[in-house]
Amino acid sequence: MSKIEYSEEEWKEKLTEEEFRVLRQKGTERAWTGELLNNYETGLYTCAGCGNELFKSDTKFDSACGWPSFFEPIKKDSVKYHLDKSFGMTRTEVTCGACGGHLGHVFHDGPPPTGDRYCMNSVSLKFHKTSD
Ligand code: FE
Repeated sequence: MSKIEYSEEEWKEKLTEEEFRVLRQKGTERAWTGELLNNYETGLYTCAGCGNELFKSDTKFDSACGWPSFFEPIKKDSVKYHLDKSFGMTRTEVTCGACGGHLGHVFHDGPPPTGDRYCMNSVSLKFHKTSD
């Protein structure tokens, strides 16, 4: 997939204020407020910044953490990983593999088959319903 790059000004035009704050400035939406938190319809989750396909609905689970959670991305290179030592914690940040937008973090207390919990901001994702 090709790398997508825009200037800060171009991103500001493309995104809502909240999308810009989360995707481009590594913000976090308030827990339990995300639009997609309790969405369990069948479909596909793409990057709100660039449309890159990120997660399938059958990998979404209720983690009770306040953010939409998935146990694996669609493809290994759908996302990228970065060591994040901000706020006095050591976490693994997850960004979009195509545009670099901030999605959330991955933790290793998820369910089988992967044991991973991709804790994502709703605002970084767009849901596309598919007929199952
Ligand atoms: Fe993206």
